[in-house]
Amino acid sequence: MNFKARLADIKRRIPDNVTLVAVSKMQPQEALQEALDAGLRIFGENRVQEAFDHWAHLKAGYPDLKLHLIGSLQTNKADDAVSLFDVIEVVDREKLADALAIAMKKQNKSPPCLVQVNVGREPQKGGVMPENLDDLVAHCRALGLNITGLMCIPPLEDDPAPHFKMLAAMAKNLGLRDLSMGMSADFETAIACGATQVRVGSSLFGERQKVT
Ligand SMILES: *Cc1c(COP(=O)(O)O)cnc(C)c1O
Repeated sequence: MNFKARLADIKRRIPDNVTLVAVSKMQPQEALQEALDAGLRIFGENRVQEAFDHWAHLKAGYPDLKLHLIGSLQTNKADDAVSLFDVIEVVDREKLADALAIAMKKQNKSPPCLVQVNVGREPQKGGVMPENLDDLVAHCRALGLNITGLMCIPPLEDDPAPHFKMLAAMAKNLGLRDLSMGMSADFETAIACGATQVRVGSSLFGERQKVT
């Protein structure tokens, strides 16, 4: 299948009210251009530097481009992240929220932010532990961050549905509307559990190519 056919297939499986975030990390520049030519404008990247390399020179030509940061962020890159990304999906600790708030104030920006939750309690993964979520959201709100939703990446080996349902319940509790969950392997399950945005990479672009 070529890109157009894969895109058509994925679009058919995503209802209109759910946003497709095309995950372009580790894809060659031609693939990004193909996606732009097909009309896609919302992309996810997990590393700040790679995202700059991919997109900085394209922003002026595509003013409706929206970039989502979906990979863990170091506090010392908060400024760069705020300057490039339109949505930050990985707020997961107070120190990072503090750094983002300073960067946003400096740049006079208030992009939507999502709090990443470590639903599977995996030590190697980013995300706030579920029991600390309410405090973190309160901290972010006190800083004036525009927290609009929650994001998660369930453990690879688990049935994702219970994790997605837990995230949906937590968002509801907090009055948050955005739910970023579901990737190539499980986005339909995520949509059934209430996802409002799905992050799809390999099943759209094919295998990731660049080793970084
Ligand atoms: C890479 C990545 C994706 C996309 O994964 P695929 O399985 O290729 O669709 C989604 N979300 C996050 C956070 C990622 O890092």
